[in-house]
Amino acid sequence: MLEIRFHGRGGQGAVVASELLAQAAFLDGKMPQSFPFFGVERRGAPVTAFARIDDRPIRVRTSVTEPDVVVVLDPGLLATTPVSEGLRPGGLLLVNTRTAAEALAGPVGIRRATVDATRIALARGLGTSMMPIVNTAVLGALSRASGAVSPEALDRAIAAFVPARPDANRDAARDGYLQVRAAPAREGPSAAPAHPRPPPVPIPEGPIAFLSSESTPTAAWRTFTPVIHRERCTRCNFCWKFCPDDAIELGADGFPRLRAAFCKGCGICAAECPPKTIEMVAEA
Ligand code: SF4
Ligand code: SF4
Repeated sequence: MLEIRFHGRGGQGAVVASELLAQAAFLDGKMPQSFPFFGVERRGAPVTAFARIDDRPIRVRTSVTEPDVVVVLDPGLLATTPVSEGLRPGGLLLVNTRTAAEALAGPVGIRRATVDATRIALARGLGTSMMPIVNTAVLGALSRASGAVSPEALDRAIAAFVPARPDANRDAARDGYLQVRAAPAREGPSAAPAHPRPPPVPIPEGPIAFLSSESTPTAAWRTFTPVIHRERCTRCNFCWKFCPDDAIELGADGFPRLRAAFCKGCGICAAECPPKTIEMVAEA
């Protein structure tokens, strides 16, 4: 049995990816299963989804804790979530990133693969520039890197089950299939987990308001970062005023500065900036 775990953010299509993978496996004549796990349901929040593929009926119904394949739709999760946890030796870590597969940190003994699914999705007009829908491009890459499903079955699953823009999604999957980059497993002694769990935030007794937001950086959800082009900035302060997360501060010179640890990448500052001097740039 092949067990696959998807890590993404709300809006990227991780849940649909697991469902499409299962549909494609079924069209390949396999016995599939897929289901999501939601935490806080909100655009940008971390989302996990699971899939299993076997030649026989699958009786297990638990979450996938020891996957053969981990698929990461948002590279920002590498720094905040132990995505590689439980990956079986010889397994595969596939990440949507511009980074080369060889440069991908991953546990010893795990094969690595990368695909720039964000660029593919933007080129195919899937989603928005702030939240490209990368799932079909990633599935194409997964098809080739893991052999979990055939590209023909994936084509058919997309045509049958993707509710919007099936042609663009099929083309994105084909792009992902052609553009995935693979690297062999890293060698060397086993060390501490590449992505250890972050320490828990201590929450004091009593009303929660006593915990300052300064002690809880909230930037982990960000997939796009605002870049302020000072040369065109009029110092109107609109970005500072409209930022819902207090992630922009004003320097002594009156120019705005990003407090990156608190910016969720919502893009409100860029939308409100009158001379459009703020550019939203995709994370690596
Ligand atoms: S992107 Fe959103 S959170 Fe980040 S600085 Fe702009 S308004 Fe604030
Ligand atoms: S809204 Fe734009 S012009 Fe105004 S201070 Fe911010 S970056 Fe500068």
